[in-house]
Amino acid sequence: MNIIMIGAQGSGKGTQAEALERAKGLQPCASGDLLREHMATGTPLGMEARPYYERGDLVPDGLVIQMILDYIREHSSHGITLDGFPRTTPQANALDEALRRMGQRIDHVLYLEAPRALLLDRLGGRYICRAHGHVWNIKTKKPQQPGICDYDGSELYQRSDDTPEKIAHRLDIFFNDTIKLLDFYSAQGKLTRIDAAQPIEVVTKAVLATVGG
Ligand code: ADP
Repeated sequence: MNIIMIGAQGSGKGTQAEALERAKGLQPCASGDLLREHMATGTPLGMEARPYYERGDLVPDGLVIQMILDYIREHSSHGITLDGFPRTTPQANALDEALRRMGQRIDHVLYLEAPRALLLDRLGGRYICRAHGHVWNIKTKKPQQPGICDYDGSELYQRSDDTPEKIAHRLDIFFNDTIKLLDFYSAQGKLTRIDAAQPIEVVTKAVLATVGG
């Protein structure tokens, strides 16, 4: 089974992708995490992507598509949850085409819906871990020990693109552009809207009910 999570920054895509991994064994694939890894290790792709990332702009389709399709070819045998990809129609088309060639498909597209004010509030409290990009939040999902990831013990930090101006810019891109993908997947009959303003466990229940878990 392959799933796409669509949702604005702070809607909880990564957290729900982790829940799907625990419940259904689906491999989470977060485009932002992959980009941060490429940037941290200084690959040519990472170096090309960095200026866009640092501005809070979308990285060009060609780069992101290549990165994600490479990842899917290596990791998709038991199914994946895509988080942060696709964000444009060319990305969505490239994904459909690549999966079709592999004899696979997207089964469900979940839109985690939440109002902008709530998203802004959540993003201000977001910290992620150095080792694996696990997401914590000083308001909604506190680690047991401040500043340390419960899962792997690594240090938590605030992302360079989580400043108030860059957050506002990324939310604008989501609500002006990425949101158009809802029509794309609705036309394919795959879209389910989920109220992501609810507590994490309630959202997880709705996610699992949708995908059959
Ligand atoms: P957020 O959803 O909070 O913006 P991500 O970690 O998913 O955080 O993405 C961070 C940045 O990585 C984006 O602002 C953008 O620069 C780049 N990025 C991630 N996914 C994509 C994508 N599918 N297309 C283009 N750029 C992307």
